[in-house]
Amino acid sequence: MTESAREPELMQKIVSLCKRRGFVFQSSEIYGGLKSAYDYGPMGVELKRNLMTEWWTFMVTSREDVVGMESSIIMHPDVWRASGHVGNFNDPLVDCLVCQERFRADKAPKVQMGAATPITLGDKARAKLAEDKVKALLAAPDATGQAVDSIKRDGMTILGTAAKEREYVCPNCGSPFLSKERNFNGMFRSSLGPTDPMAAVIEALRVGVAEGKNDEELRALADQVMNRSAVFLRPETAQGMFVQFQNVQQSLSIKVPFGIAQMGKSFRNEITVEHFIFRSCEFEQMEMEFFCEPGSGPKWLEYWKEQRRLWWEGLGLKKDKLRFRAHGQDELAHYSDGCFDVEYEFPWGFDELEGIASRTDYDLNAHMQGSKKKLHYFDPEADDPETGKKGWRYVPHVVEPAAGATRGVLAVLCDAYAEEFDEQGELSRVVLRLHPRLAPYKVAVLPLVKKDEQLVERARAITEQFLRAGIAAKYDEQHTIGKRYAKHDEIGTPYCLTIDAETLSDTTVTIRFRDDKRQERIPVQRAVEIVAEALRTGRL
Ligand code: ATP
Repeated sequence: MTESAREPELMQKIVSLCKRRGFVFQSSEIYGGLKSAYDYGPMGVELKRNLMTEWWTFMVTSREDVVGMESSIIMHPDVWRASGHVGNFNDPLVDCLVCQERFRADKAPKVQMGAATPITLGDKARAKLAEDKVKALLAAPDATGQAVDSIKRDGMTILGTAAKEREYVCPNCGSPFLSKERNFNGMFRSSLGPTDPMAAVIEALRVGVAEGKNDEELRALADQVMNRSAVFLRPETAQGMFVQFQNVQQSLSIKVPFGIAQMGKSFRNEITVEHFIFRSCEFEQMEMEFFCEPGSGPKWLEYWKEQRRLWWEGLGLKKDKLRFRAHGQDELAHYSDGCFDVEYEFPWGFDELEGIASRTDYDLNAHMQGSKKKLHYFDPEADDPETGKKGWRYVPHVVEPAAGATRGVLAVLCDAYAEEFDEQGELSRVVLRLHPRLAPYKVAVLPLVKKDEQLVERARAITEQFLRAGIAAKYDEQHTIGKRYAKHDEIGTPYCLTIDAETLSDTTVTIRFRDDKRQERIPVQRAVEIVAEALRTGRL
């Protein structure tokens, strides 16, 4: 099965629209494509930028207590040692022994021990091979003792197996026959500077072999040597804000509580890249670290949870497709005193869009230990709870709303995608009901006939008028008017203005509303006001 054929039908349609209309392309497609990365085309880059600008405006420029910054993607490697990413950023990696799928154990479908686990392959031929494999696995000397003849095949499904102590199954075929879990560090490692770490690795391995070390020990040795000169691509933007906490605070003399926000690229060598741009190896994040007084984390967590809900809903995402899932005690990191995932109902089900966590003083403490620098804040007005005297020096606590920008683009696309059908049940149009501020173009200006120079000139002048008002407008004369409407419906352009002979005589135009296809004759000046109003209110 190809990657996209595994997706629900709706996702396949969205992926196809993204390519057809210039939103998202597979990276390096002419060389066979790179599964883990994507390129944003002319429509996609506008949509992504609009989404990120909305975030920046909401989180930074419309508030007095949050400031922005941009840290480098490559930071001192000790940042990642202190944060725990070098030692602990390990995903449990597993191989399915039936279909060979490699996946993350913590993301696999859960099953109860002993529950039936039907194994389903993409076609009968593969199912037959899988049946033989299952029987061979059950016949192996270290097998669990289940009888081989209890296995039956029904078309593409193998029946008769049950979940084992692992309590999860392969996300591809449902098999409970899995390799051991191995730790896999998701950070991309490189080396900085002109020295070649390979020479040192070879030397260390020579010594290791002479000492009779086994493969696992040799690997650890090589890793150790590589890490001496290694740098890492950041797997999150957050650490840049922790390590610059003091510079930001002191350069602005800003008082706690305050936040530092950053948007940008992050990189994770994901074991499973999935669902198009939902999980890729190169992606963009929008994160904010809100530094607050010790003890006030839970209060700010509630506050930011509400703010983030308002933001996602304000972009027009359907309320019943958004939910907040509180992390259970077993899911919480040991230092965290509360965490919510903002989940969106994607075509394959609810999945994470953003995490909002109260992280106590864990991060700043970790960097104090790692850097041996003090990252305290002194509040001259507050009473020190220990001494009762004025003036309190403390390590701020942190609440972090961490959202995916590229994942956000997918949520917005899924939410906006709609199909309409005529009375015969035939598909009549596909429309992206994007929030006007997110739409790549806010208005399309269409001369009815492209051969009529006067119409063309007038349409170009009207386009100019929008552009001068700072509104993204598209002059478009290709194809019939019906095809142009269809194209702009598919890229989510909220309004189309049609310029015809009447426009020349009385300066009125036909405005077509994307969502209900309503058409009205209005003065040109009114069109600029309508579009500007929609951008302000978000309503068409
Ligand atoms: P997941 O559980 O999906 O792997 P996470 O909990 O590891 O995500 P965080 O470290 O909290 O994610 O990162 C914050 C946000 O960054 C996520 O909510 C998600 O929107 C986005 N994100 C994380 N990993 C990826 C990825 N590989 N591709 C796209 N977006 C990602």
